[in-house]
Amino acid sequence: MQHHPRKRFGQNFLHDPGVIQRILNAFAPMPGQQPLVQHLVEIGPGQGALTAGLLEIAEAVDVIELDRDLIKPLAERFGDPRLRIHQADALTFDLCALLSPSTHRLRLIGNLPYNISTPLLFRFLEQADCIEDLHLMLQKEVVDRIIAAPGSKVYGRLSVMVQTVCSAQRLFLVSAGAFRPAPKVSSAVVRLRPHRPLPYPLVDRPWHARLVAAAFAQRRKTLRNSLAGLVSPEQMIALGIDPAARAETLSIADFATLANASNACID
Ligand code: SAM
Repeated sequence: MQHHPRKRFGQNFLHDPGVIQRILNAFAPMPGQQPLVQHLVEIGPGQGALTAGLLEIAEAVDVIELDRDLIKPLAERFGDPRLRIHQADALTFDLCALLSPSTHRLRLIGNLPYNISTPLLFRFLEQADCIEDLHLMLQKEVVDRIIAAPGSKVYGRLSVMVQTVCSAQRLFLVSAGAFRPAPKVSSAVVRLRPHRPLPYPLVDRPWHARLVAAAFAQRRKTLRNSLAGLVSPEQMIALGIDPAARAETLSIADFATLANASNACID
């Protein structure tokens, strides 16, 4: 039976074989390279556009799909015991629970549902310890925000939160015509690699997340105002950070320093 793509699940299925192959090539270990891990996890397999290629390069693939109606067709299409299908919400799924004694980290791939891409990214960051790398198709604007540097108009909460935990590299752009139905936006594939160890270790990650969110809540505000009640101007000055500056001028290291130095002072 034909599946009608569902907007509420962000269903834009890839159908361009060239684009599918390009993503798989970026994801697969280069020839002659040792595969770091062979435990692959796909977020939102849909009708299996990427899954087919994943099964060619892995011993086992876990896929996490929310739409119940896609589960049976996926199982029937592949009929492969190496494919483990989880009907579940990736926003709450415990990825680390997939690890087995033989695989100490997962490799994640996904053409993500764009309507929930930011919360999904935050969820993956929380689980970065279990993840070797991530190759994700996202809205191009989201990728631009992820990789932005301080001073850029699109540098913000997402840039700081992702770059604190991962290196981020935009691989290539994908036009809307590669999907069915075609989304209204352009897309891009990004590669994220969790840092090990973190270049700027955090004493208290939730506190860092809270500070970053507050700092960017109103971009036009100075740090003195946006962080009022969280970090005093005197503390900022002592750390070499100008309270009259705006959040977009602070580096990843600055945010880590600010969070680490201030968290002990707040109850
Ligand atoms: N990978 C397929 C492809 O490239 O053709 C489908 C990609 S489509 C953009 C996103 C997929 O994620 C859909 O299959 C959708 O049902 C699924 N999805 C949406 N929300 C989800 C969630 N919270 N957890 C897991 N999968 C989800």
